[in-house]
Amino acid sequence: MNEKMRELGARRSAIRELFEYGKRRKAEIGADRVFDFSIGNPSVPAPERVRETLVRLLSEKDPVALHGYTSAQGDPSVRAAIADYLNRTYNAGVDANLIYLTAGAAASLTISLTALLNPGDEAILLAPFFPEYRVFAERTGAKVVSVPADPKTLQPDFKSLEAAFSEKTRVLLVNSPNNPTGAVLTEESIRRIVGLLEVNQRKQGSPIWLISDEPYRELVWGDVTVPYLTRYYANTLVCYSFSKSLSLPGERIGYVLVSPKAEKVSDIYAAVCGAGRALGFVCAPSLFQYMIPDCLGLTSDLSVYRSNRERFLAGLRECGFRVINPDGAFYLFVESPEPDANAFAERAKSLELLVVPSDSFGCTGFVRISYCVSPDLIERSMPAFRKLAASYGLCK
Ligand code: PLP
Repeated sequence: MNEKMRELGARRSAIRELFEYGKRRKAEIGADRVFDFSIGNPSVPAPERVRETLVRLLSEKDPVALHGYTSAQGDPSVRAAIADYLNRTYNAGVDANLIYLTAGAAASLTISLTALLNPGDEAILLAPFFPEYRVFAERTGAKVVSVPADPKTLQPDFKSLEAAFSEKTRVLLVNSPNNPTGAVLTEESIRRIVGLLEVNQRKQGSPIWLISDEPYRELVWGDVTVPYLTRYYANTLVCYSFSKSLSLPGERIGYVLVSPKAEKVSDIYAAVCGAGRALGFVCAPSLFQYMIPDCLGLTSDLSVYRSNRERFLAGLRECGFRVINPDGAFYLFVESPEPDANAFAERAKSLELLVVPSDSFGCTGFVRISYCVSPDLIERSMPAFRKLAASYGLCK
């Protein structure tokens, strides 16, 4: 067997570990006594249009075609609908022939990184980051270079980012809105990132690829927009997923697209198709491919997340916790009152509060709280949060 793969399989991610613990604990003491904020599983149902579209497809479309293989990169009419939507909505300038439908953002990311990286290359990740990025990047034999965020703004620390580039840098991966912080990259940050990419690829004489991971694109709360990165930088790949926007994480549907302005664009798209082939990610789930054209631009009812966020922010601040005001996604990043966030999360666990320490996201001193839960769970968890805060002397 492959020892690296055994290790990965034997050791779950910190998030999954806590999620599994939560399931065991709920069976032991009752579901209503465990306050599980461990995982980003959408808590609101998919829009009604999704159900209607699926029912229509199941009753009207020829079942052999509906459930049959599509072309490896996805059905052409579905890819055309996606390109049309992105160009209408974001003036994204994308091309249907450069879209590859996938089993969610995880597949899009591992395909993109496999397509772009060779052993010995370097991939820059902006911490804190989704832990699977490291797994996907290191699998290719590339090295991960982690760049911290400014702890006050959660935007990248640009001094560190500037220093992180080397002649081996091939990829910079960004995620906005961000898991685990909820931060949205400002346009100014994007321009500064692009400036560094341009300078360094000129220095190297070969492209540095920007991968934009966007499963939370539509989940923004303040008066903020999430700029479309193909408009800022030519050598861009976008990884998208319908998991969060349409509450369909179990159905595994998303896409990766290569900007038509990218250098050697047909070779890069061929490498994306080749990586899809090598990884076995050909022909994304067909029923959910065919659902896409009728559901583009829709989202689940996001108002629940918005009010959860407000309730949680107010409640945690009242307890004395320091929480950064996040603009997007459905996560709060809370500063640990002691330097070791693992110890803080363990103390929270003793009060049946399940929160994820930030170490596995590539930074120390915070915990992540997922607020894609029922409003009632947040309300019922507040006394435990108060007790936790009191144990650190943050409140009475
Ligand atoms: N990227 C980020 C930042 C995520 O948070 C997640 C899932 O939580 C993924 C990618 C994977 O999403 P998908 O369900 O589409 O594979």
